[in-house]
Formats: sequence, C-alpha cells, structure tokens
Amino acid sequence: MGQWDAIVVGLGGMGSATAAMLARRGVRVLGLEAFEPLHTRGSSHGRSRIIREAYFESPDYVPLIRRAYELWRELEGLTGRDLLRITGGLNIGHPQSAFVAGALHSARQHALPHEVLDAEVTASRFPALRLPSDFVAVYEPHAGILDPEACVGAFHSVAVEAGASLRFQEPVRRWRVEGDGVLVETDRGIERAERLVLTPGPWAPQVLGGLGVPLRVQRVVNVHFEPDDPARFAPERLPVYLLDVREGDYYGFPALPGQGIKFGRHDRGEICTADTIRREVSAQEVEALRDVLNRYLPGAATSVSRVVTCMYTMTPDAHFVIDRHLEWPQVVIGCGFSGHGFKFASVVGEILADLALDGRTRHPIGFLSLRRFGAREPGTGGVRDQ
Ligand SMILES: Cc1cc2nc3c(=O)[nH]c(=O)nc-3n(C[C@H](O)[C@H](O)[C@H](O)COP(=O)(O)OP(=O)(O)OC[C@H]3O[C@@H](n4cnc5c(N)ncnc54)[C@H](O)[C@@H]3O)c2cc1C
Repeated sequence: MGQWDAIVVGLGGMGSATAAMLARRGVRVLGLEAFEPLHTRGSSHGRSRIIREAYFESPDYVPLIRRAYELWRELEGLTGRDLLRITGGLNIGHPQSAFVAGALHSARQHALPHEVLDAEVTASRFPALRLPSDFVAVYEPHAGILDPEACVGAFHSVAVEAGASLRFQEPVRRWRVEGDGVLVETDRGIERAERLVLTPGPWAPQVLGGLGVPLRVQRVVNVHFEPDDPARFAPERLPVYLLDVREGDYYGFPALPGQGIKFGRHDRGEICTADTIRREVSAQEVEALRDVLNRYLPGAATSVSRVVTCMYTMTPDAHFVIDRHLEWPQVVIGCGFSGHGFKFASVVGEILADLALDGRTRHPIGFLSLRRFGAREPGTGGVRDQ
C-alpha cells in the first residue's frame, strides 16, 4: 500500500493545478487520472478558454480572478510556455441584460478598467460586429484567451518536476476515510494518504455520490467556423465576446490561426452524464450556431472546420463548490464549475492546496461553500464508496 501526504483524483484543469501547487509546497503527492494526459472526454479540452475580469456572474469572483492572472503568468514563467493571450473582451446585450449589468456591477465595485460602448461605437471600433441599435457592450481590456491543453500540460510538468507522481489511465474505483486519513482504490491496488482532493469534473456525481450537492451535467457543443475575411475577425480587431441576444446566451472568440472562430451556446444543453454524453453533433446544431454568429458577426461563419463536445457540471446557482468535506475534513472538494471555471484553475489549485494542507485559505471563498446547499452536516454519514 502506497503512503502519500495527498492524493488528487482527476488531473484535468483543477486537479492538475492542485497537484502542481501541492508538489511545489514539498508534500508527497499522487495524482490519479482515469484517462491519458490531455484527453478530450472531460471539460478542459478545446484549445481556447475565455478569461475575463469584470465578472458578470458576481463581483465576489473578482479577487479570485486577479490572483488567477498572477498565477497564470507565474506558470508561464516556470515553464517558458505561452498560455495567456490578452485580446480584451466585450460583454454584449441590452443594458439590463445579465452580461452587461453584471459586468458593469463588478467593474464598478472593484474599480476595474472598462468602457461602455453603444452599438454604433462598437461597430466602428470592432468592424466584425453588427449589433441591434439598442444594444451596448461593456469593453474590458484585460480579458483574453487561455490555451487549456497548454495550461494543463504545464501544470503536469510543474507537478512532476516538483516531485509529484502522476498516474494516468488509472481510474479511482472507490475511496473511503480511515481514521484521519483516506484509502483510495484503483485496479492497481490501494493507496493511503493523509489528505484527499477530489476534482473529478463531470464525473463528480459518481465520485462524490451522496454528498448532497445537486449537480447536473450538461452537454455543450462548440463549432469552429472559417470566416469570409480572416483579417476582419483577427484578435487585433476582434476581442473575445459574450452575447446576450434574443436567441440565447453565446460566447465566441476571434479567428485564431488554425482554429477559425470558435462559437458556442452558454445557457442551454442536453442533460447527460460523463459516461453517456452524445458525442455526434447534428447538422441542425451546427446551423443554429452558424445563424446566430452570422446575424451578429456577418461573414464570420462560412465553412465548418471542427466540432467539439464538452460538458458543464452545473450547480443550482451556477457558482462553484470549493470546500472541505463537511464530515471528513481530510477530504477536499473542487467541483460544479458550471461552465465558467477554467480561467480560475490556477487559483483553484492554490486554494485546494491550502484547504488540504492547512484546513483554510486566505482567499474569500465563503460564497462557494458546500453548506449553501444544506449539504450534510458533520457526523451524519458513513463510509462513502463510489
Ligand atoms: C465547451 C466549453 C467551453 C468552456 N468555456 C469556458 C471559458 O471560456 N472560460 C472558462 O473559464 N471556463 C470555460 N468552461 C468551463 C471550464 O472549462 C471548466 O469549468 C473546467 O475545465 C473544469 O475543470 P475540471 O478540472 O473540474 O474538469 P476536467 O478538466 O474534466 O477534469 C476532471 C478530470 O477528472 C478525471 N476523473 C474523473 N473521475 C475520475 C476517477 N474516478 N478517477 C480518476 N480520474 C477521474 C477525468 O478524467 C478528468 O480528467 C468551458 C467548458 C466547456 C465544456
């Protein structure tokens, strides 16, 4: 039986960041991942993720995203890899829409640099966009694009260099507490650790079964389109954008070399499980995205170069869960990232490492606690098998 200070289950965005942070703090870490490195079955693949600061979801995220930016730059320094590209970002919709009003609320509360542009000014500054005349755009200069595969790969390298053991294609079959520690079972045997960090992404319902957090896994489709005139849609002329339009909530990227324009719908998706998700994408799904993209960015969507399926793991309030287990403080949980977690992975790794090693963190994460769902109180549970 192996003996570790900490075991991390799931080495996607959050788990790889946590393993790297734990290893850099000098503890003996085992990371266990069900699939191969950088696989495409979870939630952290697809070559681009938006990072933004004027956080429409809640101003409570702003201190966390500020630290996340610092840690992304630190990771670039540690690995010599380019991970983050600043493009600026636009939160677009009616003035009272969540994207616009929420971004403004965060920007004002935290004195973040931003501009409010009407539809005409938006079109003159960013000629790819054609917005209804009653729309506005909140422009934030610090938004940009993370490369998720490069980020996860960088965390893996940092973790291994700092002494972590990362084992792939070794799913965790069961875990349970034993005394002050934990036992984790895989097909290779049983490992023992002082601390357990669970970051299973869309497999959270299976891995955390019985925790009392009502999670819902949602299938999401992204389509990469080739534009008619790549120069008009290049990152120098088009930032990342969120669109709250009558058709729904969408997000998109500028045209990136070899990737075209990636576009997706944020507010809706088939309910699924990580094991049964429908991976084929229908022609109707592609056409629905193409229509909306061409309506607000004319000429953006000509041919299709790639389709991707991915999953959101939704909590009822669409805020993350980052906490210690309520019954077993040696078990730490990061899940329910609700389709907007990747940009925070660097700081989530720092927080989960804090919780695992010290039982607390200096970061303001009260709004992400398990207790908000009325989850089980200490002393009411037994050993959890998954
Ligand atoms: C299409 C799409 C677009 C998105 N866009 C953005 C965006 O622009 N900006 C943003 O910030 N966020 C975005 N998100 C959300 C973000 O990508 C996710 O919140 C984040 O990647 C979740 O990371 P994770 O580590 O929780 O999950 P994952 O990266 O899926 O990692 C979980 C890992 O756990 C492993 N695992 C599960 N069970 C076991 C087990 N029993 N044993 C061992 N290993 C196990 C899995 O194999 C997986 O590798 C997007 C998500 C999607 C799907």
